[in-house]
Amino acid sequence: MSRMTESPEARAAKLREELQRHERLYYRDAKPEISDREFDRLMAELAAIEEEHPELRTADSPTRRVGGEPTEGFEQVEHTPPMLSLDNTYDHEELEEWFGRLTRLLPDTAFEFICELKVDGISLSLLYENGVLTQAATRGNGRVGDLVTVNARTIRSLPLRLPAGAPARLLVRAETYMRRSVFAALNEERAAAGQELYANPRNTTAGTVRLLDSRDVARRRLNLACYEWVPPAGDDGEEGRRSHGESLAALADLGLPVADSWRRCASLKDVVAYCDEWRQKRGELDFEIDGVVVKVDDPGLRDQLGATAKAPRWAVAFKFEAEQAETVVREINAQVGRTGAVTPVAELEPVLVAGTTVKRATLHNYEDLARKDVRVGDAVVIEKGGDIIPKVVEVIEERRGPESKPFEPPGHCPACGEKLCQPEEEALLRCVNAACPAVVRERIRHFASRNAMDISGLGDWLVGSLVEGDLVADPADLYGLTVERLADLKKTNDARLGEKAAARTVASLEESKRRPLNRLIYALGIRFVGDSTASLLARRFGSVDGLFAATVEELEEVDEIGDRIALSVRAFFDSEHNRRLLDRLREQGLQFEEKSTGEDDGDRPLEGKVFVLTGSLAGTTRSEAGVRIKALGGKVTGSVSGRTDFLVAGEKAGSKLRKAEQLGVKVLNQAEFEELLVAHGD
Ligand code: AMP
Ligand code: ZN
Repeated sequence: MSRMTESPEARAAKLREELQRHERLYYRDAKPEISDREFDRLMAELAAIEEEHPELRTADSPTRRVGGEPTEGFEQVEHTPPMLSLDNTYDHEELEEWFGRLTRLLPDTAFEFICELKVDGISLSLLYENGVLTQAATRGNGRVGDLVTVNARTIRSLPLRLPAGAPARLLVRAETYMRRSVFAALNEERAAAGQELYANPRNTTAGTVRLLDSRDVARRRLNLACYEWVPPAGDDGEEGRRSHGESLAALADLGLPVADSWRRCASLKDVVAYCDEWRQKRGELDFEIDGVVVKVDDPGLRDQLGATAKAPRWAVAFKFEAEQAETVVREINAQVGRTGAVTPVAELEPVLVAGTTVKRATLHNYEDLARKDVRVGDAVVIEKGGDIIPKVVEVIEERRGPESKPFEPPGHCPACGEKLCQPEEEALLRCVNAACPAVVRERIRHFASRNAMDISGLGDWLVGSLVEGDLVADPADLYGLTVERLADLKKTNDARLGEKAAARTVASLEESKRRPLNRLIYALGIRFVGDSTASLLARRFGSVDGLFAATVEELEEVDEIGDRIALSVRAFFDSEHNRRLLDRLREQGLQFEEKSTGEDDGDRPLEGKVFVLTGSLAGTTRSEAGVRIKALGGKVTGSVSGRTDFLVAGEKAGSKLRKAEQLGVKVLNQAEFEELLVAHGD
């Protein structure tokens, strides 16, 4: 039925379903299929229908997530049972002691444990009645918390309604948290607006959950991880008797977000291995964890173990060491980026933080530095948040010497000596000299980087010496390099680079000429054009010439492209200098057109097939496997549904595998997957 003839009721129902699906894709699976803008458009359409036909409004409509008038403070709600805390352990020995206590309390028992990540956020208690979310509360003091239902509704991975068959009453405990990427973007926005930066995702989450206007909460894009299904008191029915692992799987099946990183462990040794593994890998996550929670799986054993006034005996937290440390600032240097932005970097007395030595930390910008009043010689607290560059959190002022002086920002570029300027509305200092060697070097490093032209033979050292030696002033110069020229370059130890390495570099340059248009656009380093924007532009305009000819209005017609990006793209192509660069790159034979790359050519034998990848694949990654599927015309999505054709299950596949088995989706192990690809011409 076309949209025109569809009844408002049918359209509203369809929109609600679509919006819920996209919310899950975005928040639970982190695999959005549509842009934020498209999402907002669907939401606006639904809101308009509901406005016109109030009778079509439902309690679980996605429109209920946003809006809502500011409330006066919060109502209180009692927790039954109370939300207890957890006992902590900090090393293997303490974990063993905990295990010893269990075996003393219940001798001759074979314990099985469920290990979960201890997400560092704010805990919430969620109540569903007859499938509808009716209450969300903070932990508060554990017995009484704040009722924050309206705010919790804005958490998009939190279903407002559960599917048919959900229990009449369902009490779930969960952690709400902010992704690192969301936190970083929030702070970037604040920096751009000249506002004080937030300290860390956890505190920001705590503040957010208790904001009085739920519209502000919605903007913060919180996430959720459910970790406990609380059985009704005195219940001996089926739900109450599920093992913890089964209840996590059941929660996931009800559409509640459960991190699939949990693992069943049959021995203390396995528990220790899980803890150590995540202590190592915590930096890979897009959210912060402060440890692991180990829980007894069997509900009967849990009952027998019981709880103290403070914490259950059947669970324990294994806490990771703090990622903060104290050290001393030796120097404050200026670092010049590829856009000419000059940022301060603290050179530190080396210090061990969470297992690695930290020698440098970012100070963001000179305004931030001044606000924190960081000085050379200061004792400071630094913090490492996984893959994020370590940062200086605060100065320990009591330890400052009497001769200490405030730090003066540089007036001139440390690389070229040009006078620095501070553009209006920016917290940054900039070197605007287009020929500044630091800017040139960073631009070339960006051009050669992995997501750009991926020129593997071109490491940092080589780029540095090519720029210093005046052999390369822009990316086009790279393609004029010869083996002879490169082979003679002197390394720091005065040895030549040599023919072999030089030939490798030239070969990888040659190979990079075949990179598709979207990578080339990204590699150009147009301001505000990241790799996903570059892909949008490549798809929409199809060639460098098409993009070159686009007006600001035409650019803005592309989803997700606002005036900031459009103006920046236009300004890039309007520059005489950049046009000459593009002409030279074209002469070198780079791909100026979409689709002439071979990547999209040829057969698409997997056209229309939908794949989901889960678990770890030997010798490859899921994203590599995804690229191969797409090259054959297949599609990769993040979650298993009735529309999934194949689930590729690597080692340690979790809830997705269970879901696929339930839905009767064809499951392929790695060998079968390889076979399928080869059979289709991979
Ligand atoms: P603590 O705050 O140290 O007493 O630790 C208990 C808190 O850990 C809970 O209130 C939750 O907020 C949080 N937490 C995070 N992840 C989990 C998890 N998987 N299981 C239980 N608690 C968790
Ligand atoms: Zn400069």
